[in-house]
Amino acid sequence: METLAARTIGQELAQMAPSDRRTENRNCEEHGGYVSRHFSFGKGFWSPCPVCEGARLEAQAKADSEKAAQERRDIGMRNAMRRAAIPPRFADRRFSNFDVTCEGAGKALATVQQYADDFKATLDAGRSLILVGNVGAGKTHLATSAAHRVIELGYSAVFSSVMEAVRSVKETYRRGSERTERDAIDALIDPDLLILDEVGVQFGSDAEKLILFEIINGRYENVRPTIIISNLDMEGLKSHLGDRVVDRLREGGGKLVVFDWPSHRRAA
Ligand SMILES: [Zn+2]
Repeated sequence: METLAARTIGQELAQMAPSDRRTENRNCEEHGGYVSRHFSFGKGFWSPCPVCEGARLEAQAKADSEKAAQERRDIGMRNAMRRAAIPPRFADRRFSNFDVTCEGAGKALATVQQYADDFKATLDAGRSLILVGNVGAGKTHLATSAAHRVIELGYSAVFSSVMEAVRSVKETYRRGSERTERDAIDALIDPDLLILDEVGVQFGSDAEKLILFEIINGRYENVRPTIIISNLDMEGLKSHLGDRVVDRLREGGGKLVVFDWPSHRRAA
C-alpha cells in the first residue's frame, strides 16, 4: 500500500516538477514517520504523507468512477424517457410535485404511487389502472409520474394517446411502409407499462376501435399492465370500449380511480 501510494504520488509529482533532492523526516499524526521530499514547483512544496495521499487518490478515483456510472445511468434514463414519449408538457411531472388539493386527490396520488412503486408486483399480476373523470384534475400528471417511476426502477414505459396509437398502426397500411401492422401493435404491447391517454375522445370508426381492442387485448394476454386515461365516466368508458375490455382491465386487481374533484389547473 505504502509503496503503491508512494509510486502514485511520485508519478503525479514527477510530471509537475523535479524533486530538488531535499528531504526531511516528517510525521503524520495518523500514519507516523515518513520521508518528505521537496519539490520546486510554484512556490515549492513538501510531499505529503504517502498513505494519506494514497487514500486521497483512491477516494478521488472512486468518486470519478461513481460519477461516470451516474452519467451512464443518466444517459440511459434520458434514452428511456425519450422512448417513453412523454409529452414535453408533462416531462417534469412527478408524484412529489402533484398538488394534493383535496382528500380525493390525496387518495388518487396514494393509489397511483403504490401502483408504480410496487411495479414488480403490478407487472407480475398484469394489473391495470383506469383513471377517469374531470379534465384538469391531475390524471395525466399522475400517470406520467408513474411512467417516470417505472423507468427509474428499470422497466420500460410508453405514453401514447389513442389517436397516436391508432395512427401508428394505420401508417403501416401505406404502400411501401417498412413496418407491418403487427410491428406497430407489438410496439405498443411490448413495453412493461403502456399509458393510453384520451381514451374516448373521438367516437372512432370500427376499424379504430378494433385497433384499440387489439392493443389492450394483446397486453392483457401477455399479462402487461396498462394505464387508461379517460375524461369519460365509467359508464361512458364501458360503452366506448365495451364491457369485455373494461372487465379485462379490472382483472388481476385492476383499480379504478375516479377524479371527481374540480380542475386545479391554474390560469398561467
Ligand atoms: Zn498520513
